[in-house]
Amino acid sequence: MKQAQKLVAPLAEAFAKRSFASQRFAARAAEEVVAVDNAARKGCDGVLEVPSRLLMGPGPANAYPRILNAQALPLLGHMHPPFLKIMDELSEGLRYTFQTKSKYTLMVSGTGHAGMEAAIANLVEPGDKVVVGNAGIWGERVGILSRRYNAEVIELKTPAGTTFSYDTLKAALTQHKPKLLFLCQGESSTGTHQSLAGLGELCRQTGTLLLVDTVCSLGGVPLFADQWGVDCIYSGSQKCLSGPPGAAPFFLSERAMEALQKRKSPPATYNLDMNLIGDYWGWFGKRSYHHTGPVSTFYAMREALAIVSEEGLENLWKRHQEMHHRLWDGLRSMGLKPFVEKDEDRLITVNTIKVPEGVDWAALVKNAMDTYSLEIAGGLGPTAGKVWRVGIMGFNAKPQNVDLVLHAFRDGLKRQGKL
Ligand code: PMP
Repeated sequence: MKQAQKLVAPLAEAFAKRSFASQRFAARAAEEVVAVDNAARKGCDGVLEVPSRLLMGPGPANAYPRILNAQALPLLGHMHPPFLKIMDELSEGLRYTFQTKSKYTLMVSGTGHAGMEAAIANLVEPGDKVVVGNAGIWGERVGILSRRYNAEVIELKTPAGTTFSYDTLKAALTQHKPKLLFLCQGESSTGTHQSLAGLGELCRQTGTLLLVDTVCSLGGVPLFADQWGVDCIYSGSQKCLSGPPGAAPFFLSERAMEALQKRKSPPATYNLDMNLIGDYWGWFGKRSYHHTGPVSTFYAMREALAIVSEEGLENLWKRHQEMHHRLWDGLRSMGLKPFVEKDEDRLITVNTIKVPEGVDWAALVKNAMDTYSLEIAGGLGPTAGKVWRVGIMGFNAKPQNVDLVLHAFRDGLKRQGKL
């Protein structure tokens, strides 16, 4: 206290002689102004430097330089007309990427989880039945999230490395007639690709909305939101779209929007209320402030979607397919095997590779990072300790990167005397 008074008195005196603003500050200086604690000061100073890494894990992937450069453009106000125009371009770019004519596309401010929570919070009302396809950790999380929003969750489980058959899903929908069916198109924890064939039609028969996670698959594998009858999609910016994390591509069909409008009560989240966010994005004809859009991240995603449209979806999907084959030709020549048994269940964007008996998977990962500044990941959830995961996504899906991954595998196995 004494020390504070010692400081305050001369401060107040000095400020009193200065401007009006200073005098007001001096009046408020009755709050104790003590000596600043500098203990943490050196913890965050100087110009930031980061190592350069080739990110060939399940994400984030490296971003195109053009996307990173866009983030250095001057900030605009989040309601300024030039920024609103960028938001309109994002909505349109998403329409192309999702293959929809729906008005209801936008970027949720946040990562894939924000998209996930926005979907559940808006489409589910307390007591609604939700059938959750749990093929790995993403289904598990959607189950947890749905319970937090008081849904009645019916969880379907399939062993790690497999997907749900149409018949299994049909039986569950016919029995439960749920409000919502959740499936993950690209299950990055196991490396599976869930087919959506026939499910939109099926969901229409049982009055169910079809929600699909495409965080690891959008831009890497075909998706036709309208044609396939999907009602809600959330995705990620940092995988096959090669942007920075922080903006989640999001889509609602007309049916999903009707369900949202018919809710008995507003969603329990204000932050992710799609009626309010939709208003910011101009879904309902006007523009109201809901939150400050992450301006620089949206610039980046504007560039990311421009790159998608310049390359064309068919070319993008083909490039991912070719790099997946290049990877597996090389891995198989070393005797390595896919974790996902069936060809048709295998995700091409995040590849899961069985760790052979007696091989130290972590040592191989460490060697890749230490020697080549290359990220290869281990398993996650049900695959922990059993697989390596190699992501070949967006900007990174090119021969020289795949060849470096193969080189790191060869080197890693040789060092352990396994090749
Ligand atoms: N779904 C899938 C399939 C994912 O791979 C991820 C991220 N690895 C997420 C959801 C969550 O996304 P985020 O980490 O961007 O919140």
